[in-house]
Amino acid sequence: MHQESPIQRRKSTQIMVGNVPVGGDAPISVQSMTNTRTTDVEATVAQIQAIERAGADIVRVSVPTMEAAEAFRLIKQQTNIPLVADIHFDYRIALKVAEYGVDCLRINPGNIGHEDRIRAVVDCARDKNIPIRIGVNAGSLEREIQEKYGEPTPAALVESAMRHVDILDRLNFDQFKVSVKASDVFLAVESYRQLAQQIVQPLHLGITEAGGARAGAVKSAIGLGMLLSEGIGDTLRVSLAADPVEEVKVGFDILKSLRIRARGINFIACPSCSRQEFDVINTVNALEQRLEDVITPMDVSIIGCVVNGPGEALVSDLGLAGSNRKSGFYIDGKRQKERLDNTDLVNLLETRIRQQIAMRAQRIDVKETDVE
Ligand code: SF4
Repeated sequence: MHQESPIQRRKSTQIMVGNVPVGGDAPISVQSMTNTRTTDVEATVAQIQAIERAGADIVRVSVPTMEAAEAFRLIKQQTNIPLVADIHFDYRIALKVAEYGVDCLRINPGNIGHEDRIRAVVDCARDKNIPIRIGVNAGSLEREIQEKYGEPTPAALVESAMRHVDILDRLNFDQFKVSVKASDVFLAVESYRQLAQQIVQPLHLGITEAGGARAGAVKSAIGLGMLLSEGIGDTLRVSLAADPVEEVKVGFDILKSLRIRARGINFIACPSCSRQEFDVINTVNALEQRLEDVITPMDVSIIGCVVNGPGEALVSDLGLAGSNRKSGFYIDGKRQKERLDNTDLVNLLETRIRQQIAMRAQRIDVKETDVE
């Protein structure tokens, strides 16, 4: 049963990345990035589609060479989700992917070089309504800033970001978002906090190079969780040394945990103990896998015994409270006459969850028809 998040969000301007609004009152979007060779069009398209199926709103693709820019043209033709091209230094690549329909450019204007080159990229972005992401990373600060601060600090990251922001300001271009990423949680969090005080544009959150699937998810959840709970952040990417699909799942799990954005099933499950009346862990794992395709938000509690089962079921859309041989089953907090056989719980629960989703969708359809 979805409850509103108590978080007050920072007010930001809104930009459009393709058809996805970022900032303002738009839902906080979830991004990921391909890790295939961009010149391998088939593999990159397949990965973009997998990331999209996992629920991502936006996908970033590295475009390091002109050859990759040519591949990007074909990738763009074969995909629907908005694509951000990640470009460093070479303004000609930015102009090329703009011609091929890119939805956002991740390029730092201060690194493009000559003023006329910067102007060429910004004018092109303006003409084609393409926003820019300024992406500052603690690992690649400009040499002068490194020398001035000695090491990456929040002030150093923010100063670097503001250099790029000032360039865009001078060129009267305000369709941008900014990130100030670091692999250290405190550094990233404080940098974002300070930046949030200085600009009104949307912020793209990330703890960069966070690590492998488990440690990276934890680090990202802590860092992004701190910022999101303070209302900071308009779009996010969880950076994991893992399948990009995992990044999307973790991104949504963070948003779900803070009740910011719901997608798919939110499982509430007990850790299980010797009181469990059925195998909680395997039941939840199997259901998570089987129901990966579900996007309708729904809270489902799977609890091993009556100690906590009925209480959790009362505040869930669907609930199971373990009991001897047959477990108690709840819909919308109401105990059902039917009890579910503990030997076939995965099948029984999957069927009932899908039935509920279909019924809820029908109810929404009926309500919409009533309005017409
Ligand atoms: S709800 Fe029951 S089975 Fe689950 S951990 Fe608590 S006591 Fe154990």
